[in-house]
Amino acid sequence: MSEILGKFNETGGSFTYLGMDWVMVSVDALQEMVRTTLEIFGTGAHVIWYLIGVSAGKSFTRLTKEVEEGLSHEGFLEHIAKTLSSTGWGKMQIVSFDESNLEFKVRVVNSPFARNGLRSETPSCFYIKGFVKGALEEITGKKLECTETMCKAKGDPYCEFHSHVPAHTSPP
Ligand SMILES: [Zn+2]
Repeated sequence: MSEILGKFNETGGSFTYLGMDWVMVSVDALQEMVRTTLEIFGTGAHVIWYLIGVSAGKSFTRLTKEVEEGLSHEGFLEHIAKTLSSTGWGKMQIVSFDESNLEFKVRVVNSPFARNGLRSETPSCFYIKGFVKGALEEITGKKLECTETMCKAKGDPYCEFHSHVPAHTSPP
């Protein structure tokens, strides 16, 4: 257990951590957002959360780039994984980072989208899947696809995300 050393601005009611502006949302509220969008949009909500994740992953990586210089691509992803882990998004670990073949595997233990006994027949961490794709695209400058191959919500011990070149193109 460690505590986040961020800065709370009492006047503006804002919170800064690692040079970024944050807002805290409870896991309950996050899961409620997913539930509500699923009720309204059905499986279309999966696409919405995925696309939000892609944008978030890209912008988060761009913002991180501004404060972290001189890291290798893998070190950079590791830094992002650490930041996400320290802000409650589950324990994120890089399982493999093969940039020459554009093959990446990221594991998330205790995903907030599968916490509190949430169960699903199919992988359900669309936001994280998008985030991993967005972050890796921003880091490598390549177009990638991402698949959640294991998910805690469907009974796997953790969630795992496999990012690779889109099926219809070959590695450069
Ligand atoms: Zn999952």
